[in-house]
Amino acid sequence: MKLKNKIVGIVVVLATIIFVGGVKPLVGLSNHKDAYISKTSANTNTKSSKYLMLVNKKNPLALDYEPENLVKPNVEFLSSTSEKSRQMDETAAKALEELFQGAKEENIILLGSSAYRSYRSQVRVLQDEISSNGVDYANQYVAKPGKSEHQSGLAIDVTNEARCFDKTSPEAKWLENNAYRFGFILRYLEGKEDITGYNYEPWHIRYVGKDVAKDIYERNITLEEYLNDMV
Ligand SMILES: [Zn+2]
Repeated sequence: MKLKNKIVGIVVVLATIIFVGGVKPLVGLSNHKDAYISKTSANTNTKSSKYLMLVNKKNPLALDYEPENLVKPNVEFLSSTSEKSRQMDETAAKALEELFQGAKEENIILLGSSAYRSYRSQVRVLQDEISSNGVDYANQYVAKPGKSEHQSGLAIDVTNEARCFDKTSPEAKWLENNAYRFGFILRYLEGKEDITGYNYEPWHIRYVGKDVAKDIYERNITLEEYLNDMV
């Protein structure tokens, strides 16, 4: 009986540890959920905020990671943009509406091009890019599935009516200097390719919240640098 009781006791303790600690996913890619997502926290100044989620080549999202509160921002998109890829995190979507409105007030017309990308759609984007532009180009410009910030629902590529969003266009210049006022950062800065792992992309903005965006903009740093600073 004593031995049986001991065994029962051990089983209860183990079950409790597993229950409290949570079963770690077998795939190491799920770390983000634990590390960065805090559903109840609206605080954008702590590392636990989902708005500071770091997604890059070294920190991929899990295959099954899907943002919980995707909505379609009420802004104009390219007609070719699918309904699904118009979606963003609810808070980011609201901020985007304000950004587009703020731009419009200064006669800058922006268009949404591509926001949320599921893991599956990232596979398709990569395949398309390889078949049209080759493996090297795709490697440089297209994130591998799971390594795209677009999967977070916090990022969007924007464009202009001319569909020529290079850094000399008035729209790109406006975005570079004003996105932070609405809580967005230019995620892939020129000259920071070694840190972000991606070439300069004047069209890709990422929601981080107003305070953090202002700090990042004023210091001309990347999200990677910002988060390292906080360690
Ligand atoms: Zn992008």
